[in-house]
Amino acid sequence: MQLYDLLGVAPSASDSELKKSFRKKALSLHPDKGGDPEKFKEVTGAYEVLSDPSRREAYDRYGMDGLSEGGMGGGMDPQDLFSQLFGGGGGFFGGGGRPSGPKKGKDLVHRVKATLEDLYKGKISKLALQKHVICKSCQGRGGKDGAVRTCNSCHGQGVRIALRQIGPMVQQTQQPCTDCNGTGEIINERDRCKECRGKKVNQERKVLEVRIDKGMEDGQQITFKEEADQAPNTIPGDVIIVVDEQPDPRFKRKVNDLFVDAEVDLLTALAGGKIVIEHFDNHALSVEVPAGDIIKPGDMKVLRGQGMPSYRHHEMGDLYVNLKVKFPESLSADQLEALEKALPPRSLPKSLPNDFDVEDVVMDTIDDGEAHRARTKPSTTAEMDEDEAGGGPQVQCAQG
Ligand SMILES: [Zn+2]
Ligand SMILES: [Zn+2]
Repeated sequence: MQLYDLLGVAPSASDSELKKSFRKKALSLHPDKGGDPEKFKEVTGAYEVLSDPSRREAYDRYGMDGLSEGGMGGGMDPQDLFSQLFGGGGGFFGGGGRPSGPKKGKDLVHRVKATLEDLYKGKISKLALQKHVICKSCQGRGGKDGAVRTCNSCHGQGVRIALRQIGPMVQQTQQPCTDCNGTGEIINERDRCKECRGKKVNQERKVLEVRIDKGMEDGQQITFKEEADQAPNTIPGDVIIVVDEQPDPRFKRKVNDLFVDAEVDLLTALAGGKIVIEHFDNHALSVEVPAGDIIKPGDMKVLRGQGMPSYRHHEMGDLYVNLKVKFPESLSADQLEALEKALPPRSLPKSLPNDFDVEDVVMDTIDDGEAHRARTKPSTTAEMDEDEAGGGPQVQCAQG
Protein backbone atom coordinates (compact mmCIF):
# COMPACT_ATOMS: atom_id res chain seq x y z
CA MET A 1 0.00 0.00 0.00
CA GLN A 2 1.16 3.46 -0.83
CA LEU A 3 2.47 5.54 2.05
CA TYR A 4 0.42 8.53 0.92
CA ASP A 5 -2.71 6.40 0.90
CA LEU A 6 -1.98 5.24 4.42
CA LEU A 7 -2.06 8.85 5.54
CA GLY A 8 -4.97 9.70 3.26
CA VAL A 9 -3.20 12.50 1.39
CA ALA A 10 -2.14 13.18 -2.19
CA PRO A 11 1.53 12.74 -3.12
CA SER A 12 1.62 16.51 -3.62
CA ALA A 13 0.59 17.17 0.00
CA SER A 14 2.50 19.86 1.90
CA ASP A 15 4.32 19.19 5.14
CA SER A 16 1.55 20.74 7.18
CA GLU A 17 -1.14 18.76 5.33
CA LEU A 18 0.82 15.60 6.04
CA LYS A 19 1.14 16.50 9.69
CA LYS A 20 -2.52 17.41 10.04
CA SER A 21 -3.68 14.24 8.42
CA PHE A 22 -1.32 12.13 10.47
CA ARG A 23 -2.48 13.70 13.71
CA LYS A 24 -6.06 12.81 12.88
CA LYS A 25 -5.22 9.25 11.85
CA ALA A 26 -2.87 8.63 14.73
CA LEU A 27 -5.36 9.86 17.30
CA SER A 28 -8.12 7.60 16.03
CA LEU A 29 -5.83 4.60 15.56
CA HIS A 30 -3.88 4.89 18.78
CA PRO A 31 -3.89 1.53 20.62
CA ASP A 32 -4.73 3.28 23.88
CA LYS A 33 -7.92 4.51 22.21
CA GLY A 34 -8.79 1.01 21.07
CA GLY A 35 -7.16 1.27 17.64
CA ASP A 36 -5.39 -1.53 15.82
CA PRO A 37 -1.71 -1.54 16.91
CA GLU A 38 -0.53 -2.86 13.52
CA LYS A 39 -2.39 -0.16 11.62
CA PHE A 40 -1.08 2.47 14.02
CA LYS A 41 2.44 1.26 13.39
CA GLU A 42 1.98 1.39 9.63
CA VAL A 43 0.62 4.91 9.73
CA THR A 44 3.35 6.21 12.04
CA GLY A 45 5.92 4.45 9.87
CA ALA A 46 4.53 6.14 6.79
CA TYR A 47 4.60 9.51 8.48
CA GLU A 48 8.09 8.94 9.74
CA VAL A 49 9.28 8.47 6.16
CA LEU A 50 7.25 11.24 4.55
CA SER A 51 8.01 13.84 7.21
CA ASP A 52 11.72 13.51 6.52
CA PRO A 53 12.47 15.45 3.32
CA SER A 54 15.36 13.26 2.20
CA ARG A 55 13.54 10.03 2.85
CA ARG A 56 10.39 11.37 1.22
CA GLU A 57 12.42 12.23 -1.85
CA ALA A 58 13.95 8.75 -1.90
CA TYR A 59 10.50 7.20 -1.62
CA ASP A 60 9.04 9.43 -4.34
CA ARG A 61 11.81 8.40 -6.68
CA TYR A 62 12.38 4.72 -5.94
CA GLY A 63 9.36 3.63 -3.93
CA MET A 64 9.89 1.31 -1.00
CA ASP A 65 13.22 0.20 -2.50
CA GLY A 66 14.55 3.66 -1.83
CA LEU A 67 14.09 3.10 1.88
CA SER A 68 16.31 0.10 2.41
CA GLU A 69 18.04 1.77 5.29
CA GLY A 70 15.77 1.34 8.25
CA GLY A 71 12.85 0.86 5.87
CA MET A 72 9.36 1.17 7.24
CA GLY A 73 9.03 1.61 10.93
CA GLY A 74 12.48 0.19 11.43
CA GLY A 75 13.93 3.42 12.70
CA MET A 76 11.95 5.11 15.36
CA ASP A 77 9.53 3.67 17.85
CA PRO A 78 6.04 4.72 16.70
CA GLN A 79 5.22 5.77 20.23
CA ASP A 80 8.23 8.07 20.35
CA LEU A 81 7.27 9.69 17.10
CA PHE A 82 3.75 10.08 18.34
CA SER A 83 4.66 11.76 21.59
CA GLN A 84 7.16 13.93 19.79
CA LEU A 85 4.54 15.12 17.36
CA PHE A 86 2.07 15.93 20.09
CA GLY A 87 4.68 17.86 21.96
CA GLY A 88 6.88 17.28 24.89
CA GLY A 89 9.24 14.71 23.51
CA GLY A 90 8.57 12.42 26.45
CA GLY A 91 9.95 12.63 29.92
CA PHE A 92 9.95 16.19 31.01
CA PHE A 93 6.19 16.67 31.16
CA GLY A 94 4.52 13.50 32.25
CA GLY A 95 5.11 11.94 35.61
CA GLY A 96 7.90 9.84 34.16
CA GLY A 97 7.50 6.92 31.85
CA ARG A 98 6.28 7.19 28.34
CA PRO A 99 3.13 9.11 27.63
CA SER A 100 0.29 7.20 26.04
CA GLY A 101 -2.15 8.80 23.68
CA PRO A 102 -2.16 12.56 23.46
CA LYS A 103 0.29 13.92 25.97
CA LYS A 104 -1.07 14.03 29.49
CA GLY A 105 -0.03 16.98 31.60
CA LYS A 106 1.61 16.68 34.95
CA ASP A 107 -0.57 15.83 37.95
CA LEU A 108 -0.58 18.33 40.76
CA VAL A 109 -0.39 16.75 44.20
CA HIS A 110 -1.52 18.76 47.18
CA ARG A 111 -1.66 17.71 50.82
CA VAL A 112 -4.62 18.91 52.86
CA LYS A 113 -4.41 18.77 56.63
CA ALA A 114 -7.34 17.18 58.44
CA THR A 115 -7.73 16.74 62.16
CA LEU A 116 -9.17 13.50 63.47
CA GLU A 117 -12.29 15.45 64.31
CA ASP A 118 -12.54 16.61 60.66
CA LEU A 119 -12.37 12.99 59.59
CA TYR A 120 -14.99 12.07 62.19
CA LYS A 121 -17.45 14.77 61.12
CA GLY A 122 -16.43 15.30 57.52
CA LYS A 123 -15.75 18.79 56.19
CA ILE A 124 -15.40 20.85 53.07
CA SER A 125 -12.25 22.86 52.72
CA LYS A 126 -11.52 25.34 49.98
CA LEU A 127 -8.25 25.12 48.15
CA ALA A 128 -7.10 28.01 45.98
CA LEU A 129 -4.53 27.25 43.34
CA GLN A 130 -2.85 29.03 40.46
CA LYS A 131 -2.99 27.23 37.16
CA HIS A 132 -2.33 27.70 33.49
CA VAL A 133 -5.43 27.92 31.33
CA ILE A 134 -5.55 28.06 27.53
CA CYS A 135 -5.48 31.71 26.47
CA LYS A 136 -9.04 32.77 25.65
CA SER A 137 -7.88 35.60 23.42
CA CYS A 138 -6.01 33.37 20.96
CA GLN A 139 -7.63 30.00 21.86
CA GLY A 140 -4.18 28.70 22.65
CA ARG A 141 -2.76 29.48 19.22
CA GLY A 142 -0.27 32.02 20.52
CA GLY A 143 -1.13 34.68 17.94
CA LYS A 144 -3.48 35.84 15.20
CA ASP A 145 -4.92 33.19 12.92
CA GLY A 146 -2.11 32.10 10.64
CA ALA A 147 0.54 33.95 12.63
CA VAL A 148 1.92 30.75 13.98
CA ARG A 149 3.90 28.89 11.38
CA THR A 150 5.38 25.46 11.56
CA CYS A 151 9.14 25.70 11.93
CA ASN A 152 10.68 24.70 8.61
CA SER A 153 13.96 23.56 10.07
CA CYS A 154 12.43 20.82 12.19
CA HIS A 155 9.05 20.41 10.44
CA GLY A 156 7.29 21.34 13.62
CA GLN A 157 8.76 18.52 15.63
CA GLY A 158 10.88 20.73 17.83
CA VAL A 159 13.78 18.38 17.36
CA ARG A 160 16.07 17.60 14.50
CA ILE A 161 17.00 14.04 13.77
CA ALA A 162 20.45 13.31 12.51
CA LEU A 163 21.18 9.97 10.90
CA ARG A 164 24.51 8.31 11.36
CA GLN A 165 25.55 5.25 9.47
CA ILE A 166 27.59 2.81 11.52
CA GLY A 167 28.32 -0.24 9.39
CA PRO A 168 24.96 -1.76 8.44
CA MET A 169 23.14 0.14 11.18
CA VAL A 170 21.61 3.58 11.02
CA GLN A 171 21.64 5.40 14.30
CA GLN A 172 19.31 8.31 14.92
CA THR A 173 20.17 11.12 17.29
CA GLN A 174 17.81 13.91 18.36
CA GLN A 175 18.67 17.47 19.14
CA PRO A 176 16.34 20.32 20.08
CA CYS A 177 15.72 22.61 17.12
CA THR A 178 17.59 25.87 17.59
CA ASP A 179 15.44 27.90 15.17
CA CYS A 180 12.28 27.50 17.23
CA ASN A 181 13.80 26.69 20.61
CA GLY A 182 12.24 23.26 20.48
CA THR A 183 8.67 24.53 20.20
CA GLY A 184 8.23 23.48 16.57
CA GLU A 185 6.65 26.85 15.79
CA ILE A 186 7.64 30.34 14.75
CA ILE A 187 5.48 33.35 15.60
CA ASN A 188 6.13 36.82 14.18
CA GLU A 189 6.68 39.38 16.91
CA ARG A 190 3.90 41.64 15.50
CA ASP A 191 1.29 38.90 15.36
CA ARG A 192 1.98 37.52 18.79
CA CYS A 193 -1.09 37.34 21.06
CA LYS A 194 -1.04 40.40 23.32
CA GLU A 195 -2.67 38.62 26.23
CA CYS A 196 -0.46 35.57 26.58
CA ARG A 197 2.54 37.01 24.68
CA GLY A 198 2.64 33.89 22.52
CA LYS A 199 2.77 31.52 25.47
CA LYS A 200 -0.75 30.21 24.62
CA VAL A 201 -1.69 29.98 28.27
CA ASN A 202 -2.43 32.44 31.07
CA GLN A 203 -2.21 32.15 34.83
CA GLU A 204 -5.56 31.89 36.59
CA ARG A 205 -6.74 31.41 40.16
CA LYS A 206 -9.06 28.50 40.75
CA VAL A 207 -10.78 27.52 43.98
CA LEU A 208 -11.50 23.84 44.49
CA GLU A 209 -13.98 22.59 47.06
CA VAL A 210 -12.37 19.63 48.69
CA ARG A 211 -14.85 17.28 50.34
CA ILE A 212 -13.17 15.49 53.22
CA ASP A 213 -15.66 12.70 53.78
CA LYS A 214 -16.35 11.03 57.10
CA GLY A 215 -14.03 8.15 57.79
CA MET A 216 -11.31 9.12 55.32
CA GLU A 217 -7.82 8.03 56.28
CA ASP A 218 -4.35 9.48 56.18
CA GLY A 219 -2.93 9.28 52.65
CA GLN A 220 -6.32 8.85 50.99
CA GLN A 221 -6.65 10.70 47.69
CA ILE A 222 -9.33 12.93 46.26
CA THR A 223 -8.91 13.44 42.52
CA PHE A 224 -10.08 16.43 40.51
CA LYS A 225 -9.83 15.11 36.98
CA GLU A 226 -7.96 17.32 34.52
CA GLU A 227 -7.88 20.34 36.81
CA ALA A 228 -4.11 20.83 36.63
CA ASP A 229 -2.31 23.12 34.16
CA GLN A 230 -3.75 23.35 30.67
CA ALA A 231 -1.56 23.38 27.58
CA PRO A 232 -2.31 23.15 23.86
CA ASN A 233 -2.73 19.57 22.55
CA THR A 234 -2.51 18.23 26.05
CA ILE A 235 -4.95 16.52 28.34
CA PRO A 236 -4.50 18.41 31.60
CA GLY A 237 -3.18 16.41 34.52
CA ASP A 238 -5.27 15.79 37.60
CA VAL A 239 -5.22 17.71 40.83
CA ILE A 240 -4.74 15.07 43.50
CA ILE A 241 -5.53 15.98 47.07
CA VAL A 242 -3.87 13.80 49.67
CA VAL A 243 -5.44 13.69 53.12
CA ASP A 244 -2.87 14.48 55.77
CA GLU A 245 -4.29 13.30 59.10
CA GLN A 246 -3.03 15.33 62.02
CA PRO A 247 -2.33 13.50 65.27
CA ASP A 248 -4.96 14.14 67.93
CA PRO A 249 -3.81 15.08 71.44
CA ARG A 250 -6.24 12.62 73.07
CA PHE A 251 -7.48 10.03 70.61
CA LYS A 252 -5.42 7.49 68.71
CA ARG A 253 -6.89 5.84 65.66
CA LYS A 254 -6.53 2.35 64.25
CA VAL A 255 -8.63 2.18 61.07
CA ASN A 256 -12.15 2.75 62.45
CA ASP A 257 -11.38 2.16 66.11
CA LEU A 258 -10.38 4.87 68.54
CA PHE A 259 -8.30 4.64 71.69
CA VAL A 260 -8.49 7.09 74.55
CA ASP A 261 -7.23 7.38 78.13
CA ALA A 262 -9.83 8.10 80.80
CA GLU A 263 -9.28 8.89 84.44
CA VAL A 264 -11.35 7.16 87.14
CA ASP A 265 -11.15 8.27 90.75
CA LEU A 266 -10.38 5.57 93.28
CA LEU A 267 -13.86 5.52 94.80
CA THR A 268 -15.52 5.05 91.40
CA ALA A 269 -12.95 2.42 90.51
CA LEU A 270 -13.75 0.47 93.67
CA ALA A 271 -17.39 1.27 94.39
CA GLY A 272 -18.82 2.25 90.99
CA GLY A 273 -20.15 5.56 89.67
CA LYS A 274 -19.90 7.42 86.42
CA ILE A 275 -17.17 8.61 84.11
CA VAL A 276 -17.63 11.18 81.38
CA ILE A 277 -15.54 11.04 78.22
CA GLU A 278 -15.44 14.06 75.92
CA HIS A 279 -15.82 12.97 72.32
CA PHE A 280 -15.67 14.80 68.96
CA ASP A 281 -18.34 17.07 67.55
CA ASN A 282 -19.24 18.67 70.89
CA HIS A 283 -20.64 15.57 72.46
CA ALA A 284 -19.64 13.53 75.48
CA LEU A 285 -20.25 9.99 76.65
CA SER A 286 -21.46 9.25 80.15
CA VAL A 287 -20.33 5.78 81.15
CA GLU A 288 -21.80 3.85 84.06
CA VAL A 289 -19.25 1.97 86.20
CA PRO A 290 -21.29 -0.68 88.03
CA ALA A 291 -20.74 -1.05 91.78
CA GLY A 292 -18.68 -4.12 92.63
CA ASP A 293 -17.06 -4.19 89.20
CA ILE A 294 -13.63 -3.16 90.39
CA ILE A 295 -11.48 -1.25 87.92
CA LYS A 296 -7.72 -1.76 88.18
CA PRO A 297 -5.13 0.70 86.84
CA GLY A 298 -4.57 0.06 83.12
CA ASP A 299 -7.80 -1.89 82.61
CA MET A 300 -9.18 -1.51 79.12
CA LYS A 301 -12.87 -1.42 78.30
CA VAL A 302 -14.66 -0.87 75.04
CA LEU A 303 -17.59 1.35 74.08
CA ARG A 304 -19.09 -0.32 71.03
CA GLY A 305 -20.03 1.87 68.11
CA GLN A 306 -18.31 4.97 69.54
CA GLY A 307 -15.23 4.92 67.27
CA MET A 308 -14.75 6.45 63.83
CA PRO A 309 -17.31 6.16 61.04
CA SER A 310 -16.09 3.94 58.23
CA TYR A 311 -15.50 5.54 54.84
CA ARG A 312 -18.57 5.47 52.53
CA HIS A 313 -20.87 3.28 54.67
CA HIS A 314 -20.30 5.22 57.88
CA GLU A 315 -20.44 2.13 60.07
CA MET A 316 -19.09 3.08 63.46
CA GLY A 317 -15.96 1.45 64.88
CA ASP A 318 -15.37 0.97 68.60
CA LEU A 319 -13.86 3.20 71.25
CA TYR A 320 -11.33 1.50 73.51
CA VAL A 321 -10.92 3.20 76.86
CA ASN A 322 -7.69 2.79 78.79
CA LEU A 323 -8.68 3.43 82.39
CA LYS A 324 -6.28 5.32 84.62
CA VAL A 325 -7.15 5.08 88.28
CA LYS A 326 -6.56 8.36 90.07
CA PHE A 327 -5.42 7.76 93.62
CA PRO A 328 -5.94 10.42 96.30
CA GLU A 329 -2.87 12.49 97.20
CA SER A 330 -3.43 12.01 100.92
CA LEU A 331 -5.94 10.58 103.39
CA SER A 332 -6.98 11.79 106.84
CA ALA A 333 -6.64 9.67 109.96
CA ASP A 334 -10.39 9.12 109.95
CA GLN A 335 -10.34 7.93 106.38
CA LEU A 336 -7.48 5.58 107.15
CA GLU A 337 -9.39 4.17 110.03
CA ALA A 338 -12.44 3.65 107.85
CA LEU A 339 -10.30 1.94 105.25
CA GLU A 340 -8.84 -0.44 107.82
CA LYS A 341 -12.37 -1.57 108.46
CA ALA A 342 -13.60 -1.50 104.89
CA LEU A 343 -10.79 -3.12 102.91
CA PRO A 344 -9.62 -6.74 103.05
CA PRO A 345 -6.83 -7.25 105.65
CA ARG A 346 -3.19 -6.66 104.68
CA SER A 347 -1.53 -9.62 103.08
CA LEU A 348 1.21 -10.96 105.31
CA PRO A 349 4.86 -10.58 104.33
CA LYS A 350 6.15 -13.54 102.38
CA SER A 351 7.77 -16.12 104.60
CA LEU A 352 11.45 -16.66 103.85
CA PRO A 353 13.77 -19.59 104.37
CA ASN A 354 15.44 -19.56 107.80
CA ASP A 355 18.94 -18.84 106.48
CA PHE A 356 17.82 -15.44 105.01
CA ASP A 357 19.05 -12.35 106.80
CA VAL A 358 16.29 -9.68 106.74
CA GLU A 359 17.46 -6.04 106.74
CA ASP A 360 15.19 -3.04 107.49
CA VAL A 361 15.53 -0.24 104.89
CA VAL A 362 13.77 3.11 104.21
CA MET A 363 12.07 4.13 100.94
CA ASP A 364 13.01 7.56 99.62
CA THR A 365 10.87 9.68 97.30
CA ILE A 366 12.26 10.82 93.95
CA ASP A 367 11.44 13.72 91.62
CA ASP A 368 10.17 13.39 88.05
CA GLY A 369 13.60 13.81 86.51
CA GLU A 370 15.04 10.93 88.50
CA ALA A 371 11.98 8.84 87.76
CA HIS A 372 12.42 9.51 84.06
CA ARG A 373 16.11 8.59 84.14
CA ALA A 374 15.35 5.48 86.13
CA ARG A 375 12.78 4.31 83.58
CA THR A 376 14.94 5.10 80.55
CA LYS A 377 17.35 2.45 79.43
CA PRO A 378 21.07 3.26 79.42
CA SER A 379 21.71 5.71 76.56
CA THR A 380 23.58 3.41 74.17
CA THR A 381 20.79 0.85 74.17
CA ALA A 382 18.11 3.50 73.77
CA GLU A 383 19.84 5.02 70.75
CA MET A 384 20.18 1.68 69.08
CA ASP A 385 16.51 0.93 69.62
CA GLU A 386 15.44 4.22 68.09
CA ASP A 387 17.63 3.68 65.07
CA GLU A 388 16.34 0.27 64.21
CA ALA A 389 12.73 0.57 65.23
CA GLY A 390 11.54 4.00 64.12
CA GLY A 391 7.87 3.48 64.94
CA GLY A 392 8.50 0.89 67.61
CA PRO A 393 7.19 1.09 71.15
CA GLN A 394 8.65 4.00 73.06
CA VAL A 395 9.81 3.91 76.62
CA GLN A 396 6.90 4.91 78.80
CA CYS A 397 7.70 7.65 81.25
CA ALA A 398 4.37 9.00 82.40
CA GLN A 399 2.74 5.98 83.95
CA GLY A 400 0.50 6.82 86.92
ZN1 LIG B 1 12.23 24.18 14.74
ZN1 LIG C 1 -3.10 34.32 23.71
